[in-house]
Amino acid sequence: MAELQSSATDDANARLHPDNLRGLVACPHCDLLLQKKALRYSEKAKCPRCDCLLQQKKKNSIERTFAVALAGLIAFFPAMTLPLLGLRAGGLENEASLVECIQAVLKNELYFAGLLILLFCVLAPLFRLLIIFYLTSYVMNGKEAPYGVELLRFFHELEEWGMLEVFLLGLVVSLYKIIGLADAVFGFGLVAFVMVLMASTMATYFLDEQLLWEQLHGQ
Ligand SMILES: [Zn+2]
Repeated sequence: MAELQSSATDDANARLHPDNLRGLVACPHCDLLLQKKALRYSEKAKCPRCDCLLQQKKKNSIERTFAVALAGLIAFFPAMTLPLLGLRAGGLENEASLVECIQAVLKNELYFAGLLILLFCVLAPLFRLLIIFYLTSYVMNGKEAPYGVELLRFFHELEEWGMLEVFLLGLVVSLYKIIGLADAVFGFGLVAFVMVLMASTMATYFLDEQLLWEQLHGQ
């Protein structure tokens, strides 16, 4: 009996060996294990049990993701340092960039709010763009990306923490309230900020995570 148990355990361990799991994909919603299929472009594979999307072949995924990540990184510096909004009232004009906004918040001793803006509107989007730029550029050149798998996991976790949209919404709401009191002037920083937001969203859309994951694992 004991022998049978141990051989059954050995058998289960052998089946769980990474080499034997290579052709399988687990449904992220209901954990059903399924055989991977080779898909054609723009074809989708769904879980037969819960209809969750499992695989989707995207055209030129790595190259497109690389291009939008690069565009996002180029727009990032002006988005942080150029004025987002300016206000004109009674002959006085005042404008502020995102970095100046954070400085002003900290100056008013709102340290927690300042830290949140810094983390979610500056660091999280910046790290996401940097990680995806780094990984796609290595994969495109067929080279091994140091810490690639760990960085892809971190990228996945950061997805929940990027709050550029929330900051933009806050800007629109405050603008709506102010507009009766003063003339609002849009700065180039706002254009760059929207570009970073779009690049970040498009990078997530274009990225075929499974393909990138396989490429990184295959190295
Ligand atoms: Zn499922």
